[in-house]
Amino acid sequence: MTRKILCSKCEEEIRKIVAKFPDEKLVDFVGLALEDFICDDCGVEIPKGTMCYAISILSNGMRQPYQKWEHKFIDIIYSRIPNEE
Ligand SMILES: [Zn+2]
Repeated sequence: MTRKILCSKCEEEIRKIVAKFPDEKLVDFVGLALEDFICDDCGVEIPKGTMCYAISILSNGMRQPYQKWEHKFIDIIYSRIPNEE
């Protein structure tokens, strides 16, 4: 499973990419950074307290169940979880 902390631009990009693969799903948490981060895709600074995205890419047939990890990194505002909407 892929896990990333992303800026809004990269979150938009990854959303488009994952949409092209029917076997993959995006779990997307939006919130405020609990510490200073660097976007895992583009390297832009994400200062503590600013909006960012904690995403996981899940594949069908994955053996390990998805476990929440996002709350350790962001103060969650809302989430978009497939099949739980
Ligand atoms: Zn980025």
